[in-house]
Amino acid sequence: MPYYPQAAQLASGISDSSVRNAFARIDRSRFVRPALKASAWADIPLPIEDHATISQPSLVAAMTAWLKLTPDCRVLEIGTGSGYQTALLAELAAAVYTIEISETLARHAQRRLKALKYQGIQFRTGDGATGWPEAAPFDRIIATVAFPHHPTALLEQLTEDGICLIPVGMPGAVQQLIEYRRNGAKITARTHCTVRFLSLQ
Ligand code: SAH
Repeated sequence: MPYYPQAAQLASGISDSSVRNAFARIDRSRFVRPALKASAWADIPLPIEDHATISQPSLVAAMTAWLKLTPDCRVLEIGTGSGYQTALLAELAAAVYTIEISETLARHAQRRLKALKYQGIQFRTGDGATGWPEAAPFDRIIATVAFPHHPTALLEQLTEDGICLIPVGMPGAVQQLIEYRRNGAKITARTHCTVRFLSLQ
């Protein structure tokens, strides 16, 4: 099994050992532009195609830990980007449904994740703002693109005890990374931190 010590170092602050171990199995340099490979292990966001960015590794690790994934989880991801977060989800969950609006990014991420032999990932190219109703419900939903308002359509696609993690904020404004939890018909929300993600296109 692959082991990248630099990745293990970046996730060392995460208490959940399954997230730390999954993180250490992924080579982040495969997900960045060839010219930026030397920076792949710095704890900084890096540009990918179509003006998108791959988040800094410590934030990816923290968000993954907050999702509290279990091996039987079905996960929806909005904003495939490079596919790095998708790979981490696929390491820890049973099935991942990922949506990307940029055809270029979607194509590259799909090619990359297939080359890395990930299974159990369903790809969709298009607008992820309204989720993936045909495949709902999901145990977990994660967006790595900011929603302007509470994501009502997505919350309807959560299972009875599901968790949804989403940056919420108007374009240009500070965003709150919000964790929604469903408990039957009741939804609770709490803010983890402020973040800066691309806004939904
Ligand atoms: N998690 C990614 C980074 C995502 S950056 C990674 O690990 O690399 C945010 C992504 O959301 C960009 O790729 C952008 O193209 C995509 N995006 C923007 N609006 C979207 C929409 N409406 N539906 C789906 N994806 C969208």
